[in-house]
Amino acid sequence: MSKNNNSWKLRATAGSAAVLLAMSLSLTACDMSGASGENPGSSGSVLSAADDMTVSDKLKEDEANGLFVIANKLNEIDPDYEPEDLTEMTYYVEDRDPTTRYMRAEAVEAFNRMHEAAEKEDIDFRMTTAYRSHAFQNILWTQNVKARGEEEANKTSARPEQSEHRTGLATDISCEDVNWQVTSKFKDTDAGKWVAKHAHEYGFIIRYPDGREDSTGYTYESWHLRYVGVTVATEIWERDLTLEEFLEETGLGSKADGSEIVFE
Ligand SMILES: [Zn+2]
Repeated sequence: MSKNNNSWKLRATAGSAAVLLAMSLSLTACDMSGASGENPGSSGSVLSAADDMTVSDKLKEDEANGLFVIANKLNEIDPDYEPEDLTEMTYYVEDRDPTTRYMRAEAVEAFNRMHEAAEKEDIDFRMTTAYRSHAFQNILWTQNVKARGEEEANKTSARPEQSEHRTGLATDISCEDVNWQVTSKFKDTDAGKWVAKHAHEYGFIIRYPDGREDSTGYTYESWHLRYVGVTVATEIWERDLTLEEFLEETGLGSKADGSEIVFE
C-alpha cells in the first residue's frame, strides 16, 4: 500500500500549521503527563518551540505509518486492498470468525496495553471482529440488507468498499455483561464506560459518537473503536470531534490508496 509519506509536506500550509499549534497547546497536559486519565482541559502550560516540534513530529510519524487512513461512505477502499502488517490479537471472543482476529501491529500492541490497564480495574472487554476482508464484509452487508432493507442497513452496517474494518485499524468490542454481543447496551456496562473514558489514552477513539451521524455517516456505535494513535485520539476526545472533522481541519490523512479524502 502507499504509505503516503509526502502528504504531510504537501499539506503543511499556513492554515494547518496554525491548527497544529492550537492543537499542541490543548495537548500539553495529556501529552506530557503520560495521560493520567483525568481530562486536563486547558490547564496545561504553554509549550515551548521544542515541545511543539514533538507534537508535529509525532503527527508526521503517525501519518507516515498510515494511521489516518479513512474509509467511509465518501471514501471507498479497493476490493483487493489489504493492510501489510496484520497481526493476530490476544484478547478476543472465541466463538467469532478467526479470520477477523487481526489488526495492524501497532493497533494490536495498543489494544493489549489498554486491555491490561482495564484488567487492573477488574474490567474485561474483548474484540469480537476487527479486520474484515472485502469478502467477509460483503457477507455481513448482504445479510443486513436482507434482514432490514438497504436504507436501514446502511445506518449501522457498511458496504464492503466503505467499511473501516477493512483498514485493520478498527475493532468491535464487547463484554460478559451483555453476553459478548455487539449491542448498543454495551455503553451502559462498566466496560463500555471505562472505554469511553480511557480509550484515547491508548490511541483509540469511539469512531461513531452519539448524535454525529451527519459527520460520520453512521449512528452511535459505543462498541466500535478506531486506532489513530495517542496524539490524535487525545485531541479528538478532548474536543469531541469526529475523525472526519479532525482530518478536514488539519489536512492530514488519505484514502487507503493514498489519494485525497473527499469530505462532502
Ligand atoms: Zn464496527
